[in-house]
Amino acid sequence: DIAHSTIAFESHFARDFPELAVPWRAEEAPDPQLLALNGPLAVELGFDPDFLRSPEGVRLLLGNEVPEDATPVAQGYSGHQFGFYSPRLGDGRALLLGEVVGTDGKLRDIHLKGSGRTPFARNGDGRAVIGPMLREFIVSESMHALGIPTTRSLAVVATGRPVQRESVLPGAVLTRVASSHLRVGSFQYARASDDLDLLRRLADHAIERHHPSSAGDADRYLGLLKDVVSVQANLVAQWMLVGFVHGVMNTDNMTISGETIDYGPCAFMEGFDPGAVYSSIDEMGRYAYRNQPLVAEWNLARFAESIAPLIHEDQEKAVAMAVEALNGFRTQYSAAWFSGMKAKLGLPEDIDDGVASPLVDDLLELVQAARADYTSFFRSLGRAARGEAEPARGVILDLPAFDAWLVRWRELAPDADAMDAVNPVYIPRNHLVEEALAAATEGDIGRTEGLLEALASPFEEHPGLEKYAAPAPESFGPYRTFC
Ligand code: AMP
Ligand code: MG
Ligand code: MG
Repeated sequence: DIAHSTIAFESHFARDFPELAVPWRAEEAPDPQLLALNGPLAVELGFDPDFLRSPEGVRLLLGNEVPEDATPVAQGYSGHQFGFYSPRLGDGRALLLGEVVGTDGKLRDIHLKGSGRTPFARNGDGRAVIGPMLREFIVSESMHALGIPTTRSLAVVATGRPVQRESVLPGAVLTRVASSHLRVGSFQYARASDDLDLLRRLADHAIERHHPSSAGDADRYLGLLKDVVSVQANLVAQWMLVGFVHGVMNTDNMTISGETIDYGPCAFMEGFDPGAVYSSIDEMGRYAYRNQPLVAEWNLARFAESIAPLIHEDQEKAVAMAVEALNGFRTQYSAAWFSGMKAKLGLPEDIDDGVASPLVDDLLELVQAARADYTSFFRSLGRAARGEAEPARGVILDLPAFDAWLVRWRELAPDADAMDAVNPVYIPRNHLVEEALAAATEGDIGRTEGLLEALASPFEEHPGLEKYAAPAPESFGPYRTFC
């Protein structure tokens, strides 16, 4: 029985925010089968991986066996979806099982995605299928290995239930782990309820949980805004530096913690193209690669509006203070991005901006003109720093310009080892992810396991893993993602 798990579930959110939490139960899975388990994460959380692999453990991962001390809830939130406000989104197919304190003492949410209809389900069936749940597992764990703040994936369990999509597909539940599931949309929901006390309690909860440094301050809500601006500026800069395109940066998909959340129609860019869009539903390119910092700033303005009544009782003053805090986004984003670019080029952090800035701009222009594969190009620059320029030269079109660039760059003595520590070899290549998901849907999880292994140490080149480092073959065609 469940006592074997020895894990204490806490119910802070469910208890403290009844206005935002509907107690609910996961749908029973007819024939559960564990497809993927994150052993190291299980251990970090204090779970025994062998227990999670057992039939009772799998039932826990599905929310079908609920520990006595847990209160699973569907969370309410609002959100701007592609710029349009939906007052009532919420967990339509997800549940917060509860929080656990990991071996590191940190509180984390254990959350289920694909666990059945909830009162927020609207027209949805409440379900999820193997492909997209494994995609989230693969990409989130890759992001974590790349050192980018993200929710984590503990497990994917196939439910044994056929799910109607465009065709009938095997159902699955993802067990997700996050610092919390507080989103910009959670604050939009609290603000729309016109309950100032609820808004304040939610903000205090967010401060205590994620941004405790301003907890004691008189202007702590302005402090919260500044902190969220800061973590998001840094997060999106890191996305841009690895070529990650989130795909659905709706305000309900932006966390207060600064973790990447909700891997749907996301993709890693291959050929460098600032206008890159992969999601089939993003017809206007609102969430294109180059727009991500602007969208993050726009979302943060929605967060600022939501907590404005807490920032100052005089709303004119509140707005002025919020605008000033929001202005910090551009400065911090640019600083983080530029610092990351210098690192990618092996240049010292304190190098003169007047030297580094044109060097970065000129290089990106050459890479863009050639639509060179973003990830492998930067990795090959590490070899160029060691005197082996050919792999990098091989993908650039304007060679006289690139050779002149190489001369300027090498004069600065770039540090090749430092470059290798920040320019990954392995990212989740779109064609390999698709291949792995298609195989898993057909019952073969082997390709997913192989891919996960390669992605687990992205900065170390491993012989025999070349296929994981190479861009998609031409025959793969232009990439489109569906959610
Ligand atoms: P997402 O695009 O995953 O961020 O989801 C946006 C909203 O749609 C959230 O409120 C989800 O809970 C809801 N949703 C997405 N898919 C389903 C589904 N199959 N059934 C019920 N609700 C869903
Ligand atoms: Mg979402
Ligand atoms: Mg979702």
